[in-house]
Amino acid sequence: NEIIRFENVSYTYPFQTHKALDGISFAVPAGEAVLCTGASGCGKSTLVRMLNGLIPHYFHGNMQGRVRVCGAETATCHIHEISRYVGTLFQEPEQQFFALTVADELAFALECRGIAPEQIQAKIRAEADRFRLAHLMAASVFDLSEGEKQKVALASILAQSPSVIVLDEPSANLDPGATEEFARILTDLKQQGMTLFIVDHRLYWLNKLVDRAFVLENGRICETGSFSILEKRS
Ligand code: ADP
Ligand code: ADP
Repeated sequence: NEIIRFENVSYTYPFQTHKALDGISFAVPAGEAVLCTGASGCGKSTLVRMLNGLIPHYFHGNMQGRVRVCGAETATCHIHEISRYVGTLFQEPEQQFFALTVADELAFALECRGIAPEQIQAKIRAEADRFRLAHLMAASVFDLSEGEKQKVALASILAQSPSVIVLDEPSANLDPGATEEFARILTDLKQQGMTLFIVDHRLYWLNKLVDRAFVLENGRICETGSFSILEKRS
């Protein structure tokens, strides 16, 4: 059961001449936690935009090759179909908040899909319990700590039952304690069978979580293997 497949994918942004991604091929089976890492500018954010369909649906550059998620080719299917399969946790959780209170934020995406109110309430209560957010349901999302914001963003993604979660530098704004708690949450999710695709250049918090890693350099995969290949590098 394959969740992600890239086949010889290249991409050049509009008005650019160099390739942001250059001949990328890899596949991610269900239940795996994969890390993509590399220095600033190597193509990590571009890869994330390919996974959630922002490329080519919102960035109209020059794309070659094929990206499939859950069997659907992202270039030809509707972006709403992609968003049913792929949940994206962006670097700044605030960028993805639509509502004011935690409860409304958790319900928002489900309301957009026309899910019945009772079903929504059951879903968000389950996610609030899982993330120990129940006492914050009436709070403003903007008053939360960075760690709590991250948990609300992740809970609202999980409430939508995605097949894979793509996380773009999720530890960037977290202090060491919150990072450790977040790593534990991801480890639990993985044990429950969730597929995780993590993009990060900080590696210290990932060694127990990641099954497989690859390194990007100038838009190409320059190294791939177990997490230990990275420990040699740093
Ligand atoms: P990070 O390493 O955290 O992904 P970057 O420095 O690569 O951050 O990019 C920060 C933001 O600037 C991103 O949203 C990216 O799309 C944008 N960006 C990066 N390079 C360019 C560029 N050459 N032209 C326009 N926008 C760019
Ligand atoms: P990373 O996330 O690893 O820092 P990016 O995917 O942001 O790398 O960048 C890969 C290449 O694409 C870089 O050369 C960057 O300047 C370019 N790039 C990124 N975003 C944009 C954008 N919005 N417009 C034009 N070029 C971009």
